[in-house]
Amino acid sequence: MGLVVQKYGGSSVADAEGIKRVAKRIVEAKKNGHQVVVVVSAMGDTTDELIELAEQVSPMPAGREFDMLLTAGERISMALLAMAIKSLGHQAQSFTGSQAGVITDSVHNKARIIDVTPGRIRTSIDEGNIAIVAGFQGVSQEGKNITTLGRGGSDTTAVALAAALDAEVCEIYTDVDGVFTADPRVVKKAKKIDWISFEDMLELAASGSKVLLHRCVEYARRYNIPIHVRSSFSGLRGTWVSNEPRGDQQVEHAIISGVAHDVSEAKITVVGVPDKPGEAAAIFRTIADAEVNIDMVVQNVSAASTGLTDISFTLPKAEGRKAIDALERSKPTIGFESLRYDDQIAKISLVGAGMKTNPGVTAGFFEALSDAGVNIELISTSEIRISVVTRADDVNNAVRAVHSAFGLDSDSDEAVVYGGTGR
Ligand code: ASP
Ligand code: MG
Repeated sequence: MGLVVQKYGGSSVADAEGIKRVAKRIVEAKKNGHQVVVVVSAMGDTTDELIELAEQVSPMPAGREFDMLLTAGERISMALLAMAIKSLGHQAQSFTGSQAGVITDSVHNKARIIDVTPGRIRTSIDEGNIAIVAGFQGVSQEGKNITTLGRGGSDTTAVALAAALDAEVCEIYTDVDGVFTADPRVVKKAKKIDWISFEDMLELAASGSKVLLHRCVEYARRYNIPIHVRSSFSGLRGTWVSNEPRGDQQVEHAIISGVAHDVSEAKITVVGVPDKPGEAAAIFRTIADAEVNIDMVVQNVSAASTGLTDISFTLPKAEGRKAIDALERSKPTIGFESLRYDDQIAKISLVGAGMKTNPGVTAGFFEALSDAGVNIELISTSEIRISVVTRADDVNNAVRAVHSAFGLDSDSDEAVVYGGTGR
């Protein structure tokens, strides 16, 4: 029996009851003969509460102190979990990210892991302990400051530790039974996926699926660590995410893995842009210099009479202000007429490696949206994904329509959501 890394999210340890329930599950794994390393998130909405508190004392909290504050959330849950395990008669020790050897760069609030030196964790488990590690945090290589990895970063901590400790599997425990063919909060007939490739999972995560973070899947693929996403509430077998399915992992050879949606983006339209070389370059250089990441881009056909065109692009709502301000400042040099900002949009994406070799997927996607009366505003595609932007009001309808049209609806049990908010 090898080493397993288990990660428990905030909704799984939301209160004392939750912590005790999780402690029992951890002890089960230990009794089954595994060495167990656990990564834990902050209890329930603790991180959000800490952020609000910081904003009450300072409009722009310094990154260093902000990280110091936020890491307190995970310290609380790791210590309580270790106590709960001990009261079940098993040995456990808790460690901060820094103690566990999670070394990061110096970018506060969204640090990247650059190395993991888990010597203390190894010693602890070799001595028979269950090691509990605070997720979402590390220490900077230069400066030795405490850092955090960005919201939801505990998943990445878990995969990084699993890679460094050469674990058999990284189990991610959450409040749903695995990865579904659509968000089970929107599509009651969503199906649990038994196995999914890293490739498709990466694309789902990039398209708004919240069950696993993109960065965490990227890390798992780089080090080839299989992830098992499952519920801490039900104990059912969940979804395996890996390079290749193992013998007992059913693969349905589906063309489509799932439908993802994202309501976190906004759309900016630059109106009345002269249709000549260099204009798009100037617009997107301005956006890039403001350090804003964009997603989709569309340029309309220019009207022959005016020689002017419109360029639209999508970006995270949170960066909207920054982008508009930067474009306004550059307006005299770029020379467009006006800007339109629209945050009532949604992106719906269909993902599956099978679409590479199956004609008609795009047609089927657009037909489903048209049958549901949903208007398409922007389109973008990759080899294994088609995405459209629609009105935000249409999102649930659109996701359900596409899910049915591609035969993804389950005919059995409704998908269960055990708690939490989907993150
Ligand atoms: N507690 C952090 C957050 O809420 C990290 C995590 O949950 O993974 O973002
Ligand atoms: Mg959380």
